[in-house]
Amino acid sequence: AARASASEATGPGRTSDGHAVPLLANIGGPNDLPVALRNGAEGIGLYRTEFLFLDRSDAPGHEEQVAAYRAVLDAFPGGKVTVRTLDAGADKPLGFLAPPGAESNPALGVRGLRMLRHSPETLAAQLTALAAAARGTDAELAVMAPMVTDAADAEWFASAAADAGIAHAGVMIEVPVAALRARHLAEAAEFFSIGTNDLTQYACAADREISALGTFQDPWQPGVLDLVAATARAAAAAGRPCGVCGEAASDPILSCVLVGLGATSLSMGATALPLVRAALARSTLAQCREAAAAALDARDGPGAKSAAREHLPGAA
Ligand code: PEP
Ligand code: MG
Repeated sequence: AARASASEATGPGRTSDGHAVPLLANIGGPNDLPVALRNGAEGIGLYRTEFLFLDRSDAPGHEEQVAAYRAVLDAFPGGKVTVRTLDAGADKPLGFLAPPGAESNPALGVRGLRMLRHSPETLAAQLTALAAAARGTDAELAVMAPMVTDAADAEWFASAAADAGIAHAGVMIEVPVAALRARHLAEAAEFFSIGTNDLTQYACAADREISALGTFQDPWQPGVLDLVAATARAAAAAGRPCGVCGEAASDPILSCVLVGLGATSLSMGATALPLVRAALARSTLAQCREAAAAALDARDGPGAKSAAREHLPGAA
């Protein structure tokens, strides 16, 4: 019994009927590893590399990048580490990498992959460092691009990763048209990771940095869930995994709904892992699907949450 409860506390994510849902950690750097490991993260679903680049006047050099990436890869022997390439611009402005012109709406500006398309040498240097860090480790490195808009973006990023010798390249789904056209992005992207924070911001046209608009930043909104569902459906049809790495994945009830919508893994701040693991372990996959259908039928976020709860044991 002691062993069973230990595995419930830190074992692999699964529903009560055994459907596996890998539970991964979001980290900002090697300092976040101890909590991720303690809480049983099965890998890293989102390594936000911009923290290495913030608050400095030059890009970090090759060796500094290799060391930061290798520390994370070494922590997950045999596991998967998904590194997000630099997400500069908007809420993450960088001193040495500015948009090409003035922007009155930075969230709609040159940010994420758009910034790297404007500065391909920054991406190439990062991918080269990542490939070097992965050599000789047992972890599986995957890279993913933030703020991807269309199939051309996905192709451009996948070919940059291939040029650096990185075999696994996916894209974040944060822009509504990327969600709606996921089937086209899936041609070049090996996997999707849905960033519900930005997807919610863009779906509602409400800047996530403006606190007066905070009520719009609710991933329970059925319209946001529609976009998640569309992405997961396209991924399944293309045989591609579709994770969620936004804050939504750290809400125990919503995590069950995301699984019901077709999410194949969940990545979250590591402190949320135990409650999400426990919520999944209480519900069958069919109950998650029923909760997802009920949430999609609701007319607003609070309604979606209370409708979903009724289908999930122990959530009411
Ligand atoms: C997101 O947008 O949901 C996400 C995971 O990325 P970030 O919060 O770093 O923009
Ligand atoms: Mg984002």
